[in-house]
Amino acid sequence: MALRSMDALAVEGRRVLLRLDLNVPVKDGKVGDETRIREAAPTVRALADRGAVVIACSHLGRAKGAPDPALSLAPVAPVLERHVGRPVRFVGDLVGDTARAAVAAARPGDVLLLENLRFDKGEESNDPAFCAALRALADVYVNDAFGTAHRAHASTAGVAQLFAERAAGPLMAREIHALSKVRDDPARPFVAVVGGAKISGKLETLQSLASLADTLVLVGGMANTFMLAQGLQVGRSLVEADLVDTAREILATAGARGATVVLPSDVVVASGLDAPGRVVPAAAVGPEDMILDIGPAARTAIAGVLAGARTAFWNGPAGVFEREAFAAGTLAIAQAMAASTGFTVVGGGESVAAVHQAGVAARLGHVSTGGGASLEFLAGMVLPGVAVLGEP
Ligand code: ADP
Ligand code: MG
Repeated sequence: MALRSMDALAVEGRRVLLRLDLNVPVKDGKVGDETRIREAAPTVRALADRGAVVIACSHLGRAKGAPDPALSLAPVAPVLERHVGRPVRFVGDLVGDTARAAVAAARPGDVLLLENLRFDKGEESNDPAFCAALRALADVYVNDAFGTAHRAHASTAGVAQLFAERAAGPLMAREIHALSKVRDDPARPFVAVVGGAKISGKLETLQSLASLADTLVLVGGMANTFMLAQGLQVGRSLVEADLVDTAREILATAGARGATVVLPSDVVVASGLDAPGRVVPAAAVGPEDMILDIGPAARTAIAGVLAGARTAFWNGPAGVFEREAFAAGTLAIAQAMAASTGFTVVGGGESVAAVHQAGVAARLGHVSTGGGASLEFLAGMVLPGVAVLGEP
């Protein structure tokens, strides 16, 4: 889909409401991982350099529609300032007198940061009055927060509709470009690797990938349910027994198209997370075993499949990679993705963490920051925060 671009907006001397993803970990008033702030900074700088009054906004954490000092964006402002290379004034308000006064006093090139959007209950409820109040702060609107684009919140959906002049920022544009390539026009063979804890929550995406990919590789906890669906024993492993029929439907969707489904041929089992692991064939999982990773034969097979891919998408770890003893499968997939000469995309919170842990992020075609949003996009669902930015 074609998005309206930020570059095409006239911003000089105008107030830009800029929705960012500054949802970073904050502990005791200190920002932990700065990745999201560092990535957002060039967008802020570009607008300020073009003479805009930048009114940046974001949510942080799970604020419940009321101020919560522990979730204030205040600690983010100095970090943003350092990455942007321009002063960033933290406003400490959203749509009240303080915010209006700060905007009125701002000069072209100034950067303001509003308080956590979720301090107002109108944000998540997409409340029209809150949308109108946000709208009144600015002349034009830019959304560069792909990770929340699947939510119809005030700052992502409601307010966007109130601006005649609205556009996608560069991070958003890059996400949509990469994910569209995978979903709408993948170079084939297209290999999709899906893992993680559970099938539920990724159902639509799995169904969509089963009807798109040439090879669907299933790993991680979710593969257990598929193994059960194929009549294999999974012992005490994480499994969603109520989704066995759904798993069969997904296998049937892929099978009917002649697509290949790859399940792990061997697995690493243990009696618990702290017990030593053993490699067993997938058909030899004992009643007391928990499957906690894919085995070496599966790693080799998946690497082989990925080596032949011209498009590869990966979401979801192959095992409990947080534990070193069960991380080999996940790290092997990260390495195999990096080694692929095809167009490679990785999405999902834990999968992206694994990519960084493996040190291969720079060797991938695209690392998607929007976990839920990227999965919904690949599933073909309409993302309210993206749809509103489409070319008319
Ligand atoms: P992502 O965030 O990349 O979309 P998920 O949130 O779906 O991934 O799943 C990540 C979690 O899945 C990890 O915390 C990992 O420990 C867990 N996991 C993977 N394989 C297994 C398994 N075999 N048993 C239990 N948990 C698993
Ligand atoms: Mg996750």
